[in-house]
Amino acid sequence: MLVSENFNLKKYNTLGIDATTRWFAAFESEEELLVLLDKPEIREKFHVLGEGSNVLFCNAFDGAILHNRIPGFAATSEGSNVFLTLGGGYKWHSAVERSVASNYYGIENLALIPGSAGAAPVQNIGAYGVEIKDVLYSARGFNLKTAKFETLSNADCRFGYRDSIFKTELRGCFVITQITLLLSTEKKIRADYSALQNYFEKVGTLPQSAQDIFDAVCAIRRSKLPDPREIGNAGSFFKNPVLSREQAEVLLNQFADLPNYAVDSTHVKIPAAYLIERAGFKGAVREKNGRRVGVHARQALVLVNTLNATGEMVLELAEEIRAKVHELFGVLLEMEVSVVGY
Ligand SMILES: Cc1cc2nc3c(=O)[nH]c(=O)nc-3n(C[C@H](O)[C@H](O)[C@H](O)COP(=O)(O)OP(=O)(O)OC[C@H]3O[C@@H](n4cnc5c(N)ncnc54)[C@H](O)[C@@H]3O)c2cc1C
Repeated sequence: MLVSENFNLKKYNTLGIDATTRWFAAFESEEELLVLLDKPEIREKFHVLGEGSNVLFCNAFDGAILHNRIPGFAATSEGSNVFLTLGGGYKWHSAVERSVASNYYGIENLALIPGSAGAAPVQNIGAYGVEIKDVLYSARGFNLKTAKFETLSNADCRFGYRDSIFKTELRGCFVITQITLLLSTEKKIRADYSALQNYFEKVGTLPQSAQDIFDAVCAIRRSKLPDPREIGNAGSFFKNPVLSREQAEVLLNQFADLPNYAVDSTHVKIPAAYLIERAGFKGAVREKNGRRVGVHARQALVLVNTLNATGEMVLELAEEIRAKVHELFGVLLEMEVSVVGY
């Protein structure tokens, strides 16, 4: 267990924001977490951190950052079912890689998503036609409301699009220490997502295994998304808006090329990237005092820290985008990243 005072978080967030925290403490087990939560200066105000790939540090944080480093990758089988239990601090992509190498099916479409296993259910990570809700069996963690370790079932997590109970009722008071996924040794390939279909059409083969999907997803993601090790970013900064069918129809009358996907019989999802690009922000750059922030030139949904940007600069640009998109389309974009210290 490590506890430091006035700690710099630059290496602990993929946006590369140079922010500090009053306390920084890392835990490698549930016991260590309890010791930390017993300390009044930590319990009073804390924020749990995984790999910092979905977080924006805005100002100096005057509480404690609790860094989840609980290890663990253990699989048990029952027939073709595989229960894969991961420690909250285990790297998500490493879990996907090992699972695919073991010929388990279920999470290969979620390859190359940065972050920790413990954070994966928080925003119900999803990509290429799969969300963690499709495979999550349970999530265990410490509930500060009941002061107990509890195990939540898939239904208890109340998953939605980039949403779960950990972002609503249990926000800030449930520390996920372990997750269990229900995977399968049965071959079940999900390649109906358009980007995957296009990829396999182009290479002229059909996917035969989880490894084929994994390789395709990694290749597509590497060609589309900036690597945070090269350019600071937090992936998609905004959620794709879900509109009522009536609101979507009004927009479609004005913008015939607006892509749209049915969510259910009354709701439609539209790409935030389209709105941001049409609002003229793709490739936008904002500079202040020799610092620079912008919108990625190839992916309008990704805000990038191109030169020592502060958290406030990122937030200002995000607010500028939200205001313009609202003015032009009547749609209020919701941030996907968690803003800390604001
Ligand atoms: C290049 C890039 C690509 C991305 N692509 C995708 C994508 O395709 N799909 C997608 O869904 N996301 C994507 N993301 C977002 C991000 O990878 C996920 O949200 C990921 O799950 C965040 O994990 P983390 O450990 O970095 O969480 P952090 O950023 O550390 O934390 C995120 C939030 O979860 C909370 N949290 C973290 N750990 C715990 C815990 N153990 N218990 C309780 N709360 C916790 C934090 O308090 C915070 O509110 C991408 C990000 C980047 C940088």
